[in-house]
Amino acid sequence: MRSLASPTLPLYLSIGALCAGIGIQLFAPLSAPDRPLPHLASIGAERLAAMQERLTQDISILLDKAPALMPRTESVILRRGDTLTDVLERAGLSRTRAAGLVQAVHSIYNPKKMHAGQTVELTYDPLSPTAEAMPARLAFEVAPGQRLSVERQFDGAYEAKTIIAPTHIETTRAVGTINSTLFAAAEEQHLPAEQLAAFVKMFSYDVDFQRDLQKGDRFEVMYDHEITQDGQLVRNGFIRYASLTVGGTPMKLYAFRADDGGVDYYNEKGEGVRKALLRTPVNGATLTSAFGMRKHPILGYSIMHRGSDFGAPVGTPIMAAGDGTVEKRELSSTYGNYIRIRHGNGYATAYAHMSRFGAGMANGKRVRQGDIIGYVGATGRVTGPHLHFEVLRDGQQVNPITVKFPSSVKLDGSLFARFRSERSAADQQFVKLGEPAVVETAAPSETTHAAAN
Ligand SMILES: [Zn+2]
Repeated sequence: MRSLASPTLPLYLSIGALCAGIGIQLFAPLSAPDRPLPHLASIGAERLAAMQERLTQDISILLDKAPALMPRTESVILRRGDTLTDVLERAGLSRTRAAGLVQAVHSIYNPKKMHAGQTVELTYDPLSPTAEAMPARLAFEVAPGQRLSVERQFDGAYEAKTIIAPTHIETTRAVGTINSTLFAAAEEQHLPAEQLAAFVKMFSYDVDFQRDLQKGDRFEVMYDHEITQDGQLVRNGFIRYASLTVGGTPMKLYAFRADDGGVDYYNEKGEGVRKALLRTPVNGATLTSAFGMRKHPILGYSIMHRGSDFGAPVGTPIMAAGDGTVEKRELSSTYGNYIRIRHGNGYATAYAHMSRFGAGMANGKRVRQGDIIGYVGATGRVTGPHLHFEVLRDGQQVNPITVKFPSSVKLDGSLFARFRSERSAADQQFVKLGEPAVVETAAPSETTHAAAN
């Protein structure tokens, strides 16, 4: 809706004054019939009736003219290669006037960020003497739910401000079956890319998305988003609940805020999804050689491969798979730049062939899961850049892909009780979101009425 801009005020004042006039002259005598006010008594009933009719006519004339007196808004659209000045000049503004408007926009927003197809609204106020030459307002959207408005002040200068639309949180569910890829199935269900990435991340401790997913596997997601009153998306919020059924076995994860403030994901039993160790310590890498017997690419004979190789470009950051302490940092002829980290419960992880070490990596250095400890490279005995990653349990290499890592957190006591009630609330909300929308209650009575006629 258009706001009541100050230039329209005179119109409302005149209508208001007329109405007030009728009120005083018509209703004042009625409220005191025995003792009419002296000036009204002298008017006489006949003249009073004529005045009433006259005023009614005046009002209807004014209301007929009102649309022409109301501010009028024109929309102009940015074409490819247009600047804001180009659009304003095309809309009929002089170069000087356009420059004044653009300068005001510039005070809070760079108009170069505008794009082709964007709509600019110009509002003219017919009550202003310079109406045609100078718009009273220029406005355009800078982001969903956020508009920039430049308004003419009483002194003729333009002033820019940002208007933030009121927003609210809505919850949406997406349910799909994987027929080709998870990406395609998610897109089909309008699951935003951001939400899909969060979904993959929360299940990646337990599922190898490149190898485990099969046709017919299913997913469920319930997530928040912030929208404006007219339904525009402002931002995507977090996933409240998600389920992934791999090979007929469903895994359900729930968002839960424990006392320390951060939201984490937990399975139905209240076990934290975040594991003590990551299975894949590089983002976006592909597993190029798994743990097990293989023909060695350089030596040419079969040998036990005691780690996982991840192919990734030189310089790709390598993360610490878990919290721990750097216990070995060296340059070896076989492993190249090499780091080994000691974790809890007898576990350790090792990283080889790095192009360089992360900042501050030295023996005894404490690291947190996800810290960058080095970068993918091709140092040591290799045929190409990759990360050779080992997981050791009690000093023995184990298969990082299949080893069962312990969960880092388990909710118990009152925390678990709170989790359990939030979990069932999420389950109920998810079911409810899947039910058909409630039927309009007014509709049946209207139908009955029509049938009676
Ligand atoms: Zn290897």
